[in-house]
Amino acid sequence: MKTFKYLILSALFISVGAFAQEDEQKPERKPGHTNNNKFKQLYDEFSTPNMFRTASGAPGPAYYQQQADYKMDLELNDDIARITGYETITYHNNSPDELKYLWVQLDQNMRAPDSQTPLIQSDGVAPAQRAGTFVNSYMKEKLERGFNIEEVTDVNGKALPHMINRTMMRIDMPKSLKTGEKFSFNIRWWYNINDHVNEGGRSGYEYFEENDNRIYVISQFYPRMAVYNDVEGWQNSQFWGRDEFALPFGNFEVNITVPADHILDGTGRLMNRKEVFSKEMMNRYELAKKTYDKPVMIVTQAEAEKTEKTKSKDKKTWKLYAENVRDFGFATSRKFIWDMMAVKIGGKDVMAVSMYSKEGNPLWEQWSTYAVAATLKSYSRMTFDYPYHKAISVHAPMGMEYPMICYNFGRPDKDGNYSDRTKFGMISVIIHEVGHNFFPMIVNSDERQWTWMDEGLNTFVQYVAEQDFGEWHPDALSEGQDKYPSRRGPAANIVPYMGGDQDFIAPIMTKGLNTYQFGNNAYGKPGTALNILRETVMGRELFDYAFKEYANRWMFKHPTPEDFFRTMEDASAFDLDWFWRGWFYTTDYVDMGVKEVKKFYVSSEPNEYVKNIVKERGMKLSDLPPLVYMVEEGSDEYKESMKNGTLLENSPTLNEYVMDNFTEEERKNIKQPKYFYNVTFEKPGGLVMPIIVEYTYADGTSKTEKYPAQIWRLNDKEVSKAVASDKEIVKITLDPNLETADIDTSNNSWPKEVKQSQFDQFKNEVKN
Ligand SMILES: [Zn+2]
Repeated sequence: MKTFKYLILSALFISVGAFAQEDEQKPERKPGHTNNNKFKQLYDEFSTPNMFRTASGAPGPAYYQQQADYKMDLELNDDIARITGYETITYHNNSPDELKYLWVQLDQNMRAPDSQTPLIQSDGVAPAQRAGTFVNSYMKEKLERGFNIEEVTDVNGKALPHMINRTMMRIDMPKSLKTGEKFSFNIRWWYNINDHVNEGGRSGYEYFEENDNRIYVISQFYPRMAVYNDVEGWQNSQFWGRDEFALPFGNFEVNITVPADHILDGTGRLMNRKEVFSKEMMNRYELAKKTYDKPVMIVTQAEAEKTEKTKSKDKKTWKLYAENVRDFGFATSRKFIWDMMAVKIGGKDVMAVSMYSKEGNPLWEQWSTYAVAATLKSYSRMTFDYPYHKAISVHAPMGMEYPMICYNFGRPDKDGNYSDRTKFGMISVIIHEVGHNFFPMIVNSDERQWTWMDEGLNTFVQYVAEQDFGEWHPDALSEGQDKYPSRRGPAANIVPYMGGDQDFIAPIMTKGLNTYQFGNNAYGKPGTALNILRETVMGRELFDYAFKEYANRWMFKHPTPEDFFRTMEDASAFDLDWFWRGWFYTTDYVDMGVKEVKKFYVSSEPNEYVKNIVKERGMKLSDLPPLVYMVEEGSDEYKESMKNGTLLENSPTLNEYVMDNFTEEERKNIKQPKYFYNVTFEKPGGLVMPIIVEYTYADGTSKTEKYPAQIWRLNDKEVSKAVASDKEIVKITLDPNLETADIDTSNNSWPKEVKQSQFDQFKNEVKN
């Protein structure tokens, strides 16, 4: 009969519980309500796995990628800032498809007089502009920019039909290119190099009036093959100037002719070092290869200052060869100071290199090469050993990346003074741009389509590397700083963006060209999301293993977003669909709080709740098994229990049960919680996140509990937890270390913290 009674009882509790809820709140019914459960698995959003890309996020058995090899002869005319090139592209069709035509990217045409890029900018009148920009915008004819394609020919020099659609050129092959076949063709071209300081751009020259000199940083400068793959077909989405690049891997043989007094470095191995280096430079280079603790000057500041005063009429050709790179860039000037230092990466020596003009000193000689070396170490630890033989940081007033070479800002004033902001800005941009060697130069994602895949992942590792740098170079920190002041990465720093105007926020999974607040969208938010995923959701061990697995699976390959999302889950046994959905597919923000805290005691005095049930069902209290009742502090039942002495310590029901069911030995170890709290958490924000709660007790000690994000799976608005404790809780704080990017912390504590208003502060100050 006992069993029977229990059955009735549990049935009663369930049904009464349900009724009670309905009485309290009327169900909310929305017309056309779709399934937007935050824990709905990602099937609709994901492409179906196949033989090219598996469900685990790894390349599949039929995975392929195209290859494009380049042979280029380039010449720089420094007098008129023009570059001329003749290139031979050999395109390998490794796809199972037959290709009728090839697409070549003509990025320089974004600057051509007929470019549509300026026409899609909603710009208005700028309140202030650089004089040069103003003159270019309003006072001059449109500049002669963009590619001049002089000829497109096959290997026999016969003209090939081609069509140019703005920044894309279609090459029509004489016959279709079958699987496993290759096709070679030549392009002769030239263009006038842009002044990137006044005209903008990711490459070009900076002009120095003193001595009439230029520093050239040259990139997306040659007709480049577009990517053809299993997800996009040809990636021939136009270059509008913002979304970066999608490029296949290949080998580059590049000869660059520049004035004989120029210093040049770029992607690839220098094949004729003895021809272009002086004896002195050769000796210094040999020393640098064996020096691991400080940069060795290859060209000193005194030498560079002497060189920039004259101009050689002679020419020199620098020969570079690079294997398995997706792009090529170089920098050249007679103004360059040059230093190098060796760094051990996975038992191999890599050269950390810096090229800068005197304008960058004393900052550049002090930090650039160290920042390069530290970046290679941190990133190699987080991903794979840096596979190239060098990494160059070039001083130019921008931040931009290419394989083995990048351009970085950070310039002291004319007297050599610089602020903390300039110093850390420079170190950070070097870490960021050198870091791009990993994402997207080696883990070769499609930048044109998914800015976050390189910028977001890179910003995340940049944060890790910055923190390493602060640890390894404490002398770089300023007084009072105990760690590197990272701008992006810490959760709290993304709050102003995520809590901002929803009309100007787009999901991360939006093409970069079409997003507002580009930096926050494609760099800050995904970088921070991954940092939160690592520190707060998964933990470092699981995250780091999975992240490394992704990097290694897709090293020298072309991953998609799903490949990343799937690998992170596949390698960790962590279902992260809710995380990707919330952080990457929506613009939801985090806002969680403590709604209410009620304190209960155990009693053997029947409470109203049970009495009512018994009455409604026509039962007697004695029909029920012995029950332990919870009474809320301050309630009538509580007062009654106090009077009758039926509270926890001498609750006869509970004591009897314990005596009957446990041995004396067992009873010694039994816990006796004294206080019971019903803590209700609310979630005004759309993002689901773990609830991190710090419980502070009356004796001053505290305990932190983390409830996984899945606590929200059945109720997205509020959830309750029963907390039993033998010490009285005096304070509850949500997210005490600001790990979740909670946009409103005013509801994060119980009892509610009354913040002193500025007026009160003012009053106190006046009183004092
Ligand atoms: Zn970047």
